[in-house]
Amino acid sequence: MTDRYAVIGRPINHTKSPLIHGLFAEACGQRIEYTAIEGSLEDFKGDVQRFREQGGLGMNVTAPFKLQAFELANSASERARLARAANALKFVEGRVEAENFDGIGLLRDIQHNLGQPLAGRRVLLLGAGGAARGALLPFLDANPARLVIANRDLDKARRLLADAGRRDVEVLGYPQLQGQSFDIVVNATSASLSAELPPITADVFGNARLAYELAYGKGLTPFLRLAQGSGVTNLADGVGMLVEQAAEAFFWWRGMRPQTRPVIDRLTIPLV
Ligand code: NDP
Repeated sequence: MTDRYAVIGRPINHTKSPLIHGLFAEACGQRIEYTAIEGSLEDFKGDVQRFREQGGLGMNVTAPFKLQAFELANSASERARLARAANALKFVEGRVEAENFDGIGLLRDIQHNLGQPLAGRRVLLLGAGGAARGALLPFLDANPARLVIANRDLDKARRLLADAGRRDVEVLGYPQLQGQSFDIVVNATSASLSAELPPITADVFGNARLAYELAYGKGLTPFLRLAQGSGVTNLADGVGMLVEQAAEAFFWWRGMRPQTRPVIDRLTIPLV
């Protein structure tokens, strides 16, 4: 029987995961079946259980089920525990293992694909939701000179640091960013999904080398537009992150690391 995997989310019709994993499998000579499942808000657990009973070996999980996926797992990586969210599940001998590859996918895209190491750099992370939670530990492991998290809801950002047990990260409100500049600015808020700008000014970009937008397929978002207008030449959206997190999941499930560049090139929609 062909090994089965799936992505589950709601809505799921726009997912790129079957395409990405299909391309990975083809390139690695692996025979897998990868489908998309529209999860039910009432019975996510049942959806996962049914897929396991049908021989499913693993799942990617997307909004709004990442928290529920984490909660139903029997064990979870440190990354997933801090994020309190799973974006990948593996079914092993009656057990469910949870992972969260969003943060390392983001870091790999920034450092490897875009050639911007975080080490020694001043890094600003906007947002303190699920994606920022996933990014925190990988970002800290990359040794930035300074890591600042800015969020509207400051308590949420402080809770994230407390959960991570880290004091070497600064939490600032948006007004406190006035006059401060950074080398790398990452927009992990969901503001761009409604074409909004997080309440930043051009100050934050100073001589920034990179402005990174986690949302993808949205062209030049207000965030990227402000960065561009401030002279930042290196602008990126989250398509590379999407492909890199998928590659991590593929490796976790199949033990083979697919090349990501051809898939990123295929999925990239030019920003301008
Ligand atoms: P969450 O809903 O968990 O968090 C949303 C965050 O955005 C919160 O910090 C919230 O702040 C902030 N926010 C929302 N609107 C605004 C605004 N107008 N101004 C300032 N801050 C705002 O979302 P996620 O963390 O799951 O997702 C964040 C982004 O990352 C989305 O764009 C999503 O599409 C993208 N993403 C991309 C992935 C990829 O593979 N490329 C993977 C995962 C996510 P507050 O707490 O103050 O309300």
